[in-house]
Amino acid sequence: MAENQQKIVCDAAYKYAQMDANGEIYFCCPPWVGFYSIGNIKKHSFSEIWNGEKARIFRRQFIENNFTICKTDICVRNDIIGDFKYPPESDISPKPEYFIFNYDSICNVRCIFCKDKNSKHNKRFDYFEENMDSLLDDMLENVKIVVPSIAGESLFSPSTVSLIKKINSKFPNIKYSITSNGLMITKENLKKLDITSRIYQFCISVHATTKNTYDKLVKNGDFDLLKNNLKYISKLKKDGIMTSFRMNFVINAYNYKEMPRFVEWAYELGADVTFWKLLDSEIDKKTFKKLNIFDINHPKYNDFCKVIKNPIFKTDNCNIADSVLDMQSVKKSFIKQITDEIKYMI
Ligand code: SF4
Repeated sequence: MAENQQKIVCDAAYKYAQMDANGEIYFCCPPWVGFYSIGNIKKHSFSEIWNGEKARIFRRQFIENNFTICKTDICVRNDIIGDFKYPPESDISPKPEYFIFNYDSICNVRCIFCKDKNSKHNKRFDYFEENMDSLLDDMLENVKIVVPSIAGESLFSPSTVSLIKKINSKFPNIKYSITSNGLMITKENLKKLDITSRIYQFCISVHATTKNTYDKLVKNGDFDLLKNNLKYISKLKKDGIMTSFRMNFVINAYNYKEMPRFVEWAYELGADVTFWKLLDSEIDKKTFKKLNIFDINHPKYNDFCKVIKNPIFKTDNCNIADSVLDMQSVKKSFIKQITDEIKYMI
């Protein structure tokens, strides 16, 4: 580690687990960890996986601060310096506190930067559904918060709805963090599932402040309905019924001009904002090239650099990676580093 390099602190491998449609278990978002799975629940029990050899190898990169597995240039933790202290192997919690299910990507809309083009495709995970009772007992033993579906639309998926019902009946203390496009988050739907008082957080993917931009990005969406549902969620947060409300925005060539207004709008609704970088692993090359405003060769790149200088992105409700805000300085420091290294070599 270079002397001036800050140590990255990330608690993901100690508190979080995620399962995909093939039964693979990850500590974090699969593309961020280069699809490094710590095991498969069809082959081993969750308890064996959580502290197995692959999990230990993964955790070693934090202790050694070499990040041979994590792609810290794209993950959101790359600039977080927390208080978390890595425990010795003997003190690692026997189970996670936070569990993310990622096995059904069915969705009621299609975002143009989303990998799964077929919104009707339902990746049902039969093994999990057939063994749900015993698997959940092992996986969720210490869990406080569950994300029922990260890639699909939770309340639209029959499979995820049955998972929620099962968790409701077996784990009365577990709360939910729902990631959603917001279109089905209504008073009636939450009441029907009996989860209004069990919501810890809503993370709503919005990506725009105007109907025009929203319609370009989200096919089969309904911006007016979304706005109404955001107001309802805002009320739940303001009434103290839920703890956290987050609005997501994937930055791209169609929406970057709306970023400052998005922060203001979220503030009015009592929400935090997370801005995300578009990932090339999510979409085809042609679409990525058209939308990737982070590319220095993109015709609107310089305009984007002006937009992100707006001081509004430094406000408390805005979560945006330093690498996004400091694109120019990152570039300059990279050039300086190369120049210094060349000087040194000469
Ligand atoms: S990819 Fe980033 S957030 Fe994920 S475990 Fe690694 S450092 Fe933590």
